[in-house]
Amino acid sequence: MTVGDVVDVDRLVAWLHRFAELVEQEADALTALDAAIGDADHGTNMRRGCRAIVEALAANPPADVATFGRSVAMTLISAVGGASGPLYGSFFLTFGTTAGATDALAADQVGEVWTAAVGAIASRGKAEVGDKTMLDALVPAADALREALADDRGLDESFAAALSACAAGRDATIPLVARKGRASYLGERSAGHQDPGATSSTLLVQAAAETVTTS
Ligand code: ADP
Ligand code: MG
Repeated sequence: MTVGDVVDVDRLVAWLHRFAELVEQEADALTALDAAIGDADHGTNMRRGCRAIVEALAANPPADVATFGRSVAMTLISAVGGASGPLYGSFFLTFGTTAGATDALAADQVGEVWTAAVGAIASRGKAEVGDKTMLDALVPAADALREALADDRGLDESFAAALSACAAGRDATIPLVARKGRASYLGERSAGHQDPGATSSTLLVQAAAETVTTS
């Protein structure tokens, strides 16, 4: 639960539970997107990873944000075979190390922690905005989140702004030619398809917008 504009570990766990629900609902759609420009496993990868996260968080409830991040990261890295497992794993590992051994994040820290976590995906995958990856959704989302929080717009409005930037970034992957990951093997033929990872990333931000709130 949040007290004022503070995000505690229970709220972060609720975020991942909601993400897992959304991934269950959308797994077939994620796999269909990956069938068009990859190897048709993104939905099954993410579903397997999310089920393992829910189990790990229940078996060992994290006491602080660093432990939360490490638990989610290690679970994703071991449970998800595809590129997306280590990439999302980097996100959560850095999320935890940036926050540290604290049991709650103040609102003004949330934007920094998200930005560092997204930066870890870029370092790990050596990708940037425009390469037709999850970063096309996550970078604008982190920018919008940080800017809205810096303007004192509060968690609810800031995550709503992040979600709309994220969804716009996801949609903007459609015309792009992939320069990273399996989709890049298709060259120009990757254009005209929405990136699967940008789509699952938008579910991650949607889950945050629904759970990391002040109410
Ligand atoms: P795989 O490509 O190994 O089958 P998935 O299908 O689970 O793994 O994930 C594919 C998604 O991973 C892509 O849609 C893209 O968003 C993301 N991705 C792949 N390579 C990179 C990279 N180098 N940097 C960032 N994201 C990447
Ligand atoms: Mg795949």
